[in-house]
Amino acid sequence: MDASVCIVGAGGLGCPAALYLAAAGIGYIRIVDCDIVSRSNLNRQVLYGDGDIGRSKAGVAAERIGILNPDITVEPLEVSLSGDSAFTVADGVDIIVDALDNYAARYLLNEIALAKDIPLVHAAVTGYFGQMLTVLPGRSACLRCAIPHPPESTAPPPVIGVTAGIMGCMQAGETLRILLGDEPAARDALMVWDGKTASWEKICISRDPECAGCGSGTKNG
Ligand SMILES: [Zn+2]
Repeated sequence: MDASVCIVGAGGLGCPAALYLAAAGIGYIRIVDCDIVSRSNLNRQVLYGDGDIGRSKAGVAAERIGILNPDITVEPLEVSLSGDSAFTVADGVDIIVDALDNYAARYLLNEIALAKDIPLVHAAVTGYFGQMLTVLPGRSACLRCAIPHPPESTAPPPVIGVTAGIMGCMQAGETLRILLGDEPAARDALMVWDGKTASWEKICISRDPECAGCGSGTKNG
């Protein structure tokens, strides 16, 4: 498929999302991550094995994806989203997949998507719970409309591996829907997965005219 996707974060969400997008034949996939593989990642970051510990996540991910589908182009980008290069990580792509693990970086990516007018498929996981929201810049609620401030918790919570797998696959599905011209499932809606009861809740979100991300910023700025 003549399409390009930038996956930001090659962790528990980014690994399954990258696998299914590559298998679907997305012509160009950029994988952004500056981290290295550690043993505690292996319960959910399914592109990596024991022998990859200490290696670059973006590099190994690109290598594995290249084996799965040698007909597509995969570009690893080992940069931090906090650096000066942040605003160019998604240049030239059709869709951004937010597979990050902290709100500071997620809000920055939301800002980048809005500034560059690129659809953003956000997801996040904690324990048994996952969430997904799709941002169509100027046409739907953004991440800040849905979640104006980061949740209280400070320490990174443990993630049940399958939670990340489910949400990463959901992001791949949402990305394909957008590329195929179908209606995104999580436009103006936060889709919440509860892995304890294996159930979904869809919470409607309205665009906030005073949003710090896509609005005047008068309320949340
Ligand atoms: Zn907004």
